Amino acid sequence: MERTMKQTGKVYLLGAGPGAADLITLRGARLLARADVLLYDRLVGADLLDLVGPEVKRVYVGKTVGENHDARQERIHTLMIGHALAGKTVVRLKGGDPFVFGRGGEELLALAAAGVEAEVVPGISSALAGPAAALIPVTHRGSSGSLGIFTARGKGNGPAPLDWHAAGHMETRVFLMGVERLPEIARQLIAHGCDPATPAAVVERAHQPNMRVVSAPLHQIATAAQGLKPPSVIVVGEVVRVRERLTAVTEQLQIASAG
Ligand code: SAH
Repeated sequence: MERTMKQTGKVYLLGAGPGAADLITLRGARLLARADVLLYDRLVGADLLDLVGPEVKRVYVGKTVGENHDARQERIHTLMIGHALAGKTVVRLKGGDPFVFGRGGEELLALAAAGVEAEVVPGISSALAGPAAALIPVTHRGSSGSLGIFTARGKGNGPAPLDWHAAGHMETRVFLMGVERLPEIARQLIAHGCDPATPAAVVERAHQPNMRVVSAPLHQIATAAQGLKPPSVIVVGEVVRVRERLTAVTEQLQIASAG
């Protein structure tokens, strides 16, 4: 009786945070433990999957060879809707926050169109947590009171139709999916009013044990950060100088405590 009463399930678009398993929310961890079905793709931190309950059916929905973005997205929608209509609690796990370059909005619209109940569980976005891992506050009194978050990648992997003029005149800019386009990003920012000496940094695999950070003035950052790979966030703005100050203090403190 109970079973027939429960007609449709529910989909949770769940933000995984920037990679470390203990940076997911409590709500997120509980859902991972008790969902019926988990849809996940390539995650920054594989240890997140340790939080998944033993009964949960895991479905990998990463890119398959030859499949374009739209076809893959379509496949994910079909899977989410199919499982939910079969009465399952579905967790669609996404890196960072589902609504920051995560296609969360598209997925929510598709679920709504299919009449499937859904909920968004926010996650800590790498746009904020990436810089933070490198001791870069994205806002800092006296250095920056505003922040722009950009994607360097457009539809189907092409370059994003970015408002370079706006980006050039911002205080703090954070770029996601941009490390492979770093020379272009630096060139465009400089061409659109950004001082070539503006401090910049690239944070690779933030909140992971093998994190790497490179900083340099904007006009040298592409050369300095050669060899850094996705996932990386790029920060450009005066706030990067705070890192230098904080790193110096941290080193002093370490020397003090060692001595
Ligand atoms: N929704 C995600 C972003 C998805 S786009 C969020 O809110 O974080 C994927 C991009 O996020 C990567 O190309 C990279 O720029 C960034 N990213 C995600 N995790 C990261 C990490 N641990 N360290 C550095 N960058 C990360």
